[in-house]
Amino acid sequence: MPEGDTIHYAANRIRPVLEGRVPDALETPHPRFRRDRWPERLAGRAVRSVDAHGKHLFLRFEGGLTIHSHLRMTGSWRVLEPGARWPRSPRSAWLRIRRDESEVLQFNGPVLELMTDSRKRLDRRIAGLGPDILAPELDEATFLRRLREDDPTRPIGEALLQQQAIAGIGNLWKVEGCFAAGIDPWRRTGDVADAEVLAILHETRPRMQVSATDGMQDRFRVIHGRAGQPCPRCAQAGTVSPIRARGQGDDNRLTYWCPSCQR
Ligand SMILES: [Zn+2]
Repeated sequence: MPEGDTIHYAANRIRPVLEGRVPDALETPHPRFRRDRWPERLAGRAVRSVDAHGKHLFLRFEGGLTIHSHLRMTGSWRVLEPGARWPRSPRSAWLRIRRDESEVLQFNGPVLELMTDSRKRLDRRIAGLGPDILAPELDEATFLRRLREDDPTRPIGEALLQQQAIAGIGNLWKVEGCFAAGIDPWRRTGDVADAEVLAILHETRPRMQVSATDGMQDRFRVIHGRAGQPCPRCAQAGTVSPIRARGQGDDNRLTYWCPSCQR
């Protein structure tokens, strides 16, 4: 699933191909970009930096122009190294950037736009983002302040998805983080102590850091998608407790939890 670690992993792969370089070619094959003239507007400009914040990825070009992408549930980034094959045609990409023999491709990411720096500063989706869970230094004070400003009756699982409090956690990491910390995702946020909320982050962050480095997110899936199966932690203690699942929050994202060992 495209969550913060997926996006940081993509940025880590794209960076060595593009950073500090002028792309040899840039195309937007998808018809929705036909009138936007990205190839002309970006021609001859070097990529200053490639970075991620939460689930957002930014390709910053010289001259104050930035490509902003958010994959939501459907999109993906691919980096094709020389000689590599990819089962989908690069022609079905929405964005295609070539440099030497490598290609950077974006497929189906519903947010893909070319922004000026001034527009980016004013964009509320970006300016309002909370601290990135994968930032080199985790800003816990800002996270806790933003969390406590939010609705205290919201279940903690849902609160962790609010990108203005903490950027980068999606449904998978919310489920696994609450499970690892032994916190019931249905508890009202106002009833969850700071130390407990931080415990969820401290379980989640190192796993996401590893996944952002090697792209292998699935290995951290312990209870997500396993409704009805016995909880592995309770099983070790000799009890059988099936994992439960129920939709949570405005988007009704399926939340998995063990009612016995998550309090
Ligand atoms: Zn359990």
